[in-house]
Amino acid sequence: MLNIVIFGAPGSGKGTQSAKLVEKYALKHVSTGDILREEIKAETELGKLANTYMSKGHLVPDEVVIDILNGLIEKNGTIKGFVFDGFPRTLSQGEALSKMLSKHGEDVNAVISLEVGDEELIGRLLKRGEISGRTDDNRETIEARLKVYYEQTSPLKEFYKERGTLREIDGVGSMEEIFQAIENEIDPLVR
Ligand code: AMP
Repeated sequence: MLNIVIFGAPGSGKGTQSAKLVEKYALKHVSTGDILREEIKAETELGKLANTYMSKGHLVPDEVVIDILNGLIEKNGTIKGFVFDGFPRTLSQGEALSKMLSKHGEDVNAVISLEVGDEELIGRLLKRGEISGRTDDNRETIEARLKVYYEQTSPLKEFYKERGTLREIDGVGSMEEIFQAIENEIDPLVR
């Protein structure tokens, strides 16, 4: 399998580049944010719980997202691999992901970290809020999400650096330029 984590702050372009990865390498896209938004739309109990965190820009508890991931990995036994987008977001989630994949003799093969400065991130998210109407793309929630990213999520970079899987990519540029840099990292892993 080819398992890729697409990593970065909110607004770094994870969703856009995930779509391109999925297309080129025939992988399954797993976005915990998308899954949680679907649950909110369907007004499920899980959605109601998730919304109390998401509307404030906080992380949904680890157990909740790890459970979702576990179900997904078990259900998709025979695919070529996954693109994990927005997961893991804490060290516990990173450890849980390796554990879940190792049950199938697999692990994360590459972590693509999209590097984008704060000012650019805030600008992109405010613009996205205007276009998509995503309710967490407002200034107050954006600031909370960036804080959460630096405090809880960015330590995962060290975690993956130690495992030799971290690839830092400049996330500013055209969509094609950025994807080219990603392909340069992934192509050698594909035989
Ligand atoms: P995203 O679409 O990835 O930006 O995620 C939107 C929101 O969903 C985040 O701000 C969190 O509240 C929640 N969320 C998504 N993925 C996770 C995760 N792996 N762990 C905890 N919360 C998450």
